[in-house]
Amino acid sequence: MKILISADMEGATGVTWPADVLPGTPQWERCRSLFTSDVNAAVLGFFDGGADEVLINEAHWSMRNLLLEQLDERAQMLTGRHKSLSMVEGVQHGDVDGIAFVGYHTGAGSQGVLAHTYLANSITGVWLDGVRAGEGLLNAHVVAEYGVPVVLVTGDDLTCEDALGYAPGALKVAVKDHVSRYAAVCRTPARTASEIRAAAKEAAALAVRHEPVRGGPFTMEIEFDAEHLAAAATVVPGVARTHGERRVAYTSETMYEGIRTFKAVTTIVSAAVEEQYG
Ligand SMILES: [Zn+2]
Repeated sequence: MKILISADMEGATGVTWPADVLPGTPQWERCRSLFTSDVNAAVLGFFDGGADEVLINEAHWSMRNLLLEQLDERAQMLTGRHKSLSMVEGVQHGDVDGIAFVGYHTGAGSQGVLAHTYLANSITGVWLDGVRAGEGLLNAHVVAEYGVPVVLVTGDDLTCEDALGYAPGALKVAVKDHVSRYAAVCRTPARTASEIRAAAKEAAALAVRHEPVRGGPFTMEIEFDAEHLAAAATVVPGVARTHGERRVAYTSETMYEGIRTFKAVTTIVSAAVEEQYG
């Protein structure tokens, strides 16, 4: 049994503030250990539950946050940027039986600690076939096309609630309770590690590959906080304005294509954001 862990940082134990997750800050250096503790707890739990292999795919910012030297020696880690499936890279080779979303968060425009969808700001909402989407929902659709079930989700309490929509059967661990976008009631790493480990052990039993799901075509709608960002996004072929000045939409046959187009849009939009005026 092979498990893939998609590891994001905003939903990690103790993390509530931008500096906690911004590479290079002293606070990020501190929070890397807390993040690594959550991920390692999941690794230990999956091995407890009978996994033969656990691959961790770093999914936050520069994708170079976890401390390899603090991980259980049986795990392997995919670190660094420029991967065709981004946050769920590694799922496409036909050998993964289940995936865990560790350190996840709610989507842009939703309540939740450090809520966003791919870009930290500029995007105010994403809808997949009319349903508000965060990274969890989008990535769940990608992995379903490879027949891989989401078996474990960790993050704040609202992330766990959100996951009921896209992975109802998955185990969920809330490591903190939302108070505002930048505040939460946090549990200690000792406590969250034991809860994540226990949940991952149980989640291993759910890691059974199914037939690939062909749910397309998918229509994605993206709303930005400024009109010129919508204009910039239409540079990507197939992306057109919809519903007013700040929204664009596109349709893809598969979520594989859908997420790649989304990446193209966010890359172009990031380059169009001006430091002061947005
Ligand atoms: Zn994220």
